[in-house]
Amino acid sequence: MILDCAIIGGGPAGLTAGLYATRGGLDNVTMFEKGMPGGQITQSSEIENYPGVTGEITGMDLMIPWPAQCQKFGLVHAMVNVTRVTKSGDLFTIHKEDGTTTDAHSVIIGTGSSPRRAGFKGEDELFGKGVSTCATCDGFFYKGKEVAVVGGGDTALEEALYLAKICSKVYLVHRRDAFRSAPNTVNRIKNTPNIELVLNSVPEEVYGDATGVTGLKVKNKEGKIRDIKVPGVFTFVGNDVNNETLIQEDGTFLCEMNNQGQVMVDLGMRTSVPGLFATGDMRVEAPKQVVSAAGDGAVAALSAISYVDELLN
Ligand code: FAD
Ligand code: NAP
Repeated sequence: MILDCAIIGGGPAGLTAGLYATRGGLDNVTMFEKGMPGGQITQSSEIENYPGVTGEITGMDLMIPWPAQCQKFGLVHAMVNVTRVTKSGDLFTIHKEDGTTTDAHSVIIGTGSSPRRAGFKGEDELFGKGVSTCATCDGFFYKGKEVAVVGGGDTALEEALYLAKICSKVYLVHRRDAFRSAPNTVNRIKNTPNIELVLNSVPEEVYGDATGVTGLKVKNKEGKIRDIKVPGVFTFVGNDVNNETLIQEDGTFLCEMNNQGQVMVDLGMRTSVPGLFATGDMRVEAPKQVVSAAGDGAVAALSAISYVDELLN
């Protein structure tokens, strides 16, 4: 069977593409998502900027109804890791980790982005043993204890606020003295008594013993080292685009990319390859928001419907 549309990634972009593609009349639409659908927002402790959703809700709460809504209109979820997307003639092939392949007339890709490592000593060795990139997942382990958060963007500040509700104290370590975050969030940080700002400072080394992390050494602008004794270090230093599935056997990308590895698209989310659409965090100039990723998914599905219609009729 040849799919009308293969969707790669089941975050807000992929799920919305699935909803619009199936409701819009495409037959045989499968969403290939390697884990549980929902995407990276399911790791967020709070989302307050999705329109129409008020009150304190977690990213997981927001995403729970999305897959069922799509499945109602016929979207199939295949839980598998896609390793590569190729195109021969008019036909795309989805290559999967289990060794099987699926052919499709069109592809909507929305594989998002993944947390970046900050690159300080001990970070890799102690990852999962006290170093974490997910406060909602791991914050509870540090209930009543002190932790450090590294980063100065929206994610670091929002997750520091979340951790400050669970932990006795949060050291917010940032390499500058200005934050890359919404002013409202910065104000909340400054008004939270158990958050100590450790500014103009970079992590030098996280260290520990058999029990896991026991401390983080940070160096300030003057070169002075401060030893912060904490059992947990949360790093939120940005994301890298998940574009591996577009890399071909010869090492080139299937479609045009920019020098940051983001997919070039037009306003219809069309890439340089006819029938291939890119959405959400992985596309050029992405606002990196749930609402915009969802919007991209809807736009891409509408473009895919027109493309498939023209191709087959
Ligand atoms: P993702 O959500 O990254 O989804 C991509 C999906 O693709 C994932 O489920 C992944 O498993 C899957 N995938 C990847 N590679 C493969 C593969 N090879 N095969 C199969 N499946 C694959 N945005 C807001 O609007 N408001 C907020 O308050 C907010 N808070 C955030 C807090 C945190 C902690 C984080 C990390 C992000 C936050 N964001 C927030 C940003 C928001 O989560 C993203 O912009 C949005 O999730 C992007 O959606 P996406 O569908 O493009 O990608
Ligand atoms: P980000 O905006 O790229 O911020 C990364 C932060 O980490 C920056 O403060 C950066 O410092 C710092 N940093 C980077 N590399 C570092 C290193 N090696 N060592 C120490 N510090 C380092 O990433 P993000 O906060 O994850 O946000 C990603 C996107 O998602 C943004 O567009 C953001 O607006 C969006 N987002 C939105 C919301 C929301 O709307 N509520 C919530 C979360 C995320 P510098 O500032 O010095 O560069």
